[in-house]
Amino acid sequence: MPQTSLLPDIAGLERQELESLLREREIEAYRARQLFRWVFKRGVTDFAEMTDLSKSLRARLPELFRVSRPAVVGREHSADGTAKLLLELDDHRRVESVFIPDSPGQTFCISTQVGCAMRCAFCLTGKMGLARHLAAGEIVGQVRVLAEEIGLLDARFNIVLMGMGEPLHNYDETMKALRILGDQDGLAVSPRRVTISTVGLVPALERLAQEPYMPNLAVSLHATTEAQRDLLVPLNKKYNIAEVIEACRRFPIKRRSRITFEYVMLAGVNDSREDAKRLVSLLNGIRSKVNLIPLNEAAGIPFSRPTDERVDEFAQILADRHLTVSVRKSRGRDIRAACGQLIVEETEKSAGQKLAAAMPT
Ligand code: SF4
Repeated sequence: MPQTSLLPDIAGLERQELESLLREREIEAYRARQLFRWVFKRGVTDFAEMTDLSKSLRARLPELFRVSRPAVVGREHSADGTAKLLLELDDHRRVESVFIPDSPGQTFCISTQVGCAMRCAFCLTGKMGLARHLAAGEIVGQVRVLAEEIGLLDARFNIVLMGMGEPLHNYDETMKALRILGDQDGLAVSPRRVTISTVGLVPALERLAQEPYMPNLAVSLHATTEAQRDLLVPLNKKYNIAEVIEACRRFPIKRRSRITFEYVMLAGVNDSREDAKRLVSLLNGIRSKVNLIPLNEAAGIPFSRPTDERVDEFAQILADRHLTVSVRKSRGRDIRAACGQLIVEETEKSAGQKLAAAMPT
């Protein structure tokens, strides 16, 4: 019996890849469609349960392939319906995935990396640094697990790549994951239902502009002056606001679509009337909408949330100047839904437990 972890993972293959691997193993290529339906549509990972395959094929498949599935090691449900899962990967690293109901529609927020290299000053995941990129199968795996847990395998849902990590920093695996998710024999998620969020990796944005699978784009701006953004988003020193905005102007926006600009609001830092007016000028001429995100405060983050009045005033300035603006509802505050919060707290807990275990009694 081969070592299972070395076998090709059906959950991380595009259908064409699976078809050619099947052919190489002298199995009919059309079996790929059946396998996709079992794994993605029905959530079945045990070949023995795939009853429309012949008995002999069912017996052979475990020697040739595996089907990975992240393990759920933590679950938190909020009173507002938000659910946060802590998922463990094969190497025991952990990522977070969140289900947000009525947002509008049902939305899964998933991770593309373990940790993140971007080190945004207001983000707990950024404090961890980058542990590693996720493989396509691990990105898709979060969607499978969420869809199974929430009972949405056969339903429509949206996906936002706004969990842990910068998706465009893990470009190839992220795009591969989106192609797998889009497969008609799998979860068949239309690109219109997917949003990639980036902090502004300009060369990758330009690459994304050429993709045939074109998701919606959200750009995390968070500041209106270079000095302010240098402080909040260290990547700004490499690709500054002017370059990011220029790349957005060149980005091929689909008909009836717009670029979303995400703006985390931090009290006394980027929430002034002048900021609001500068934001309007920066976005002038771009088909855009602005999503204001009052900070989800968390221990270890040295910023605070602006008052509701300040957020409303900021939003009104944008709206008065004909920008479409929304204010993100604070979801799951009772379940530590700030990105990275669950992992940081779990890590601190286990570090604390290790420390306690090492202490002489
Ligand atoms: S906000 Fe996003 S890009 Fe910035 S450190 Fe956090 S996960 Fe990374």
